[in-house]
Amino acid sequence: PPVVEFDHVTKTYNDGQPNAFTAIKDISFVVEDKHNHGEFVGILGPSGCGKSTILKLIAGLEPQHPATLGTVSVLGKPVTGPGADRGMVFQDYTSFDNRTVLDNVTFGLECRGMPRRIREELGRHWIDQVGLDVENDQYKFPHELSGGMRQRVAIARTLILKPRVILMDEPFGALDPQTRLNMQDLLVSLWRKVEATVFFITHSIEEAVYLGDRVYVLSSSPGRLVQELEVEPPDRPA
Ligand code: ADP
Ligand code: ADP
Repeated sequence: PPVVEFDHVTKTYNDGQPNAFTAIKDISFVVEDKHNHGEFVGILGPSGCGKSTILKLIAGLEPQHPATLGTVSVLGKPVTGPGADRGMVFQDYTSFDNRTVLDNVTFGLECRGMPRRIREELGRHWIDQVGLDVENDQYKFPHELSGGMRQRVAIARTLILKPRVILMDEPFGALDPQTRLNMQDLLVSLWRKVEATVFFITHSIEEAVYLGDRVYVLSSSPGRLVQELEVEPPDRPA
């Protein structure tokens, strides 16, 4: 089955009430695994056009407010709530301030009951994979980290759980331009090592085209899918 499928999806917040608001309207698309490797899907559009709404519907973050019309499916099953097959990375580096980098990265494994020694070994592997310095950084607390480093922690914390679908809501939106470029290249290199489909929200056309194999462009409002671009792979660093 497709990794993610939207079949004529409309989302109206406060449906049936005076303050009803249709955020996205009649959106359909299919994202398949390409050569057993997920695609990188950029979602581009003006503020308020429904980009986050699309991610939330895939994430199943609003189980009591699913699609108003149509069906959102992940791996062939209609989404009814959150699940281990999907992971999220947000813009505002959500982390636990009273936990070390290592404890933040391994939090999901701890929730799944994995013994400390094994999860910490995995944690150090992923801390290294996202370009942090294991020796120096593993016992730091989030307030000791720069924004770029915190987003690396957030990415490690998601990747360690091996989700099939990774949902990123403007993950680099709060970073300075140089850090943002570093993070884009990190994502490209990580990308070759994980078999996941990534949905990536951005305001930046350059970023969408640089990272995306495919870019969905939304108009407002309500958000409609107005264009679907297949992007030729650019010259990316190895
Ligand atoms: P984007 O991510 O493109 O900025 P969003 O998906 O966050 O857009 O929001 C799309 C529209 O839906 C916005 O006008 C927003 O105000 C509205 N909206 C989002 N979430 C809710 C909600 N829970 N209740 C009511 N309106 C909402
Ligand atoms: P990058 O995108 O490479 O993470 P950053 O600006 O986030 O760029 O950080 C670059 C390097 O500077 C980091 O790897 C880290 O070693 C160091 N650094 C930046 N800010 C801090 C800080 N607040 N505390 C400790 N080290 C920092």
